[in-house]
Amino acid sequence: MGFDGVFLDKIRFSSFGNGFEAAMGCFCERCGERYQKSGIDMNEFSKRMKLTDKSFLLPDAVENGRYRFADPLIDKVYEVRSEIITDAVNDLAGHFRGLGMKVGLDVYAPMFSYWVGQDIGALSENADFIKTMLYRVTQAPAGIPYEAACMVRQLRLRGCESEGVLQRLWNIGDLCSPESLRRQIKAVSGARCPVYAGFEINAKRDICHADLNYVLQTAEVLERENAGRAVLSWDVLSDTQDFLESLADL
Ligand SMILES: [Zn+2]
Repeated sequence: MGFDGVFLDKIRFSSFGNGFEAAMGCFCERCGERYQKSGIDMNEFSKRMKLTDKSFLLPDAVENGRYRFADPLIDKVYEVRSEIITDAVNDLAGHFRGLGMKVGLDVYAPMFSYWVGQDIGALSENADFIKTMLYRVTQAPAGIPYEAACMVRQLRLRGCESEGVLQRLWNIGDLCSPESLRRQIKAVSGARCPVYAGFEINAKRDICHADLNYVLQTAEVLERENAGRAVLSWDVLSDTQDFLESLADL
């Protein structure tokens, strides 16, 4: 048919970039049923969401890329959210597999993937490869600095102070540092399919602040972490200056 496979993007719930309500996920009839079946009391959940202090929305641990919440209700909600996404992706993947195609998945950086319902470990069971959007210099959706700022802002508006929480959970000072890249790669190293880091190789005024230093530094870290196979993102037709040539020299 001329296609080897498909690459599925936007397989997730909204992030905090779309506002607080959107980031809480989907509460349509179908999702509601899933929550109910899993023993989640939706009335109790609604009551929780009306509390002025919403610090229960903050995880207290991260295990293999999954956040764990001290509040059992919230912990379960996030678990079911990711099951809803995994099942939907598996349906799609099964369809394309049936047509003899391979399936790649585009997912958020491990630091944010679970917030949007992407359990990378679970998704890896039925994918040929996963690409993580490890965009450390993108000030737009899926970019780490952008998503982190949106998260703090949206949660703060709803009575939940999350400044410094991701740094604490991931044990890093700077969410956009090479160390952050390393930790996030490690967090999903148990995946059942190859996970390729996606990093920016184009610059875009006011949006993507990639420069040669960043591109080479990222490539170096990936090489050292045995993650030398990567996905050059996010727009090779945009301004890549001489980044591609310099990478080729490596
Ligand atoms: Zn739904």
